[in-house]
Amino acid sequence: MISLAGGLPPPRVAQRRRIVDPEGGDPLDDGLVLWFPAPRSATGEDVAEFHLHGSRAVLAVVMQSLARLGLRLAEPGEFTRRAFLNGKLDLLQAEAIADLAAAETEAQRRQAVRQLGGELGDVYRGWRDRLSRILAHLEAAIDFPDEDLPPEIEDRILDDTEGLLTEIEYHLADGHRGERLRDGIDVAIVGPPNAGKSSLLNRIARRDAAITSPVAGTTRDVIEVAIDLGGYPVVLADTAGLRDSGDAIEQEGKRRAVQRAEQAEIRLFVFDAARPADAAGASAWPGADTILVANKIDLVPAAGTELPHAALPISALTGEGVEGLLAVLGERVAQSCRVEAPVLTRARHRQALEEAATSLRRSFSAALHELRAEDLRLALRSLGRITGAVDVEDLLDIIFRDFCIGK
Ligand code: GDP
Repeated sequence: MISLAGGLPPPRVAQRRRIVDPEGGDPLDDGLVLWFPAPRSATGEDVAEFHLHGSRAVLAVVMQSLARLGLRLAEPGEFTRRAFLNGKLDLLQAEAIADLAAAETEAQRRQAVRQLGGELGDVYRGWRDRLSRILAHLEAAIDFPDEDLPPEIEDRILDDTEGLLTEIEYHLADGHRGERLRDGIDVAIVGPPNAGKSSLLNRIARRDAAITSPVAGTTRDVIEVAIDLGGYPVVLADTAGLRDSGDAIEQEGKRRAVQRAEQAEIRLFVFDAARPADAAGASAWPGADTILVANKIDLVPAAGTELPHAALPISALTGEGVEGLLAVLGERVAQSCRVEAPVLTRARHRQALEEAATSLRRSFSAALHELRAEDLRLALRSLGRITGAVDVEDLLDIIFRDFCIGK
């Protein structure tokens, strides 16, 4: 900063400077510079910012000058990693930065901002504090000269452990809401061949993602399209027609379709409005998570066939009714992701919490107080790994690998 911008500006104040070549003094650009001395910076280290005209030529010449001073480009995630190592944020907040940078929909952005705010970390830190206190009580009791723990202390330790375990189990039983919101909510389009599943997918995706064809049984694999539905990320999958067939490839397609339909959060069961009896196929997936869709109503006379009561009439061909279907689907998706308390957002957190819960459960059957204390210590470690409070060196490369450059 000193050699390129003619000296340091006052801390945290933007100043306009002429940027010059530190060797020859040649002017390179005219821009803003900012100086954040440690520790009051994003990473906790000294940070200098140059706001330049972003053309390739300007960047190239300034980068050359910086390289001659021994500076290099940051690795992906390096700024966030340094901020974590300097205690500026916990691991959950670091992950939230990656999520925020990758957020494609409004709900994903909201979830990431919430996590960045530290709410989720506070929950886990609260549990660690409680467990530390339980462990401290147990260890103090172990040091008692008598063989047995005073019963009131023993009871309190058991009660507190039980209470903590219940909360962790409740948090784990969240139906993967936070993780789903990160990855996209799975919606499967199922139904008999030729009902118009691919046509519906195409209409929704507004592009030719799936190949439609008048020949029955042509969608042999599962085709996915990611869409933003009212701010929620939805992965819409078109599955092969559910139909028995001797064709081996089609059989495989059907197997995948059934599997996909089973895993999906929500199903659109599409049938031909002229064949209302086909709607019975939806009974394989009873419940509110299966939406009945009567397609091709453009071919059915207005006062024609009697459709099942719950079926939404649409035409994938003309687009009639599709907006209404999307509104119903959007409402279901929003419901399936609605949360009040902060939710866990990654498989990494889930794994650590499951380990903690297992250790806590095991602690109840420990034969010796020392063994129980060891179980609690293991649970404490598992909880600590989520926020990065205990050694996580082995995790860092994995976590920061997904970042983009400059974060
Ligand atoms: P899938 O096997 O369920 O994926 O069905 P497709 O999307 O391939 O559609 C089968 C045939 O029905 C194609 O010829 C489509 O053009 C036609 N089709 C699909 N939806 C409609 C619709 O709403 N109205 C009419 N008239 N034809 C449709």
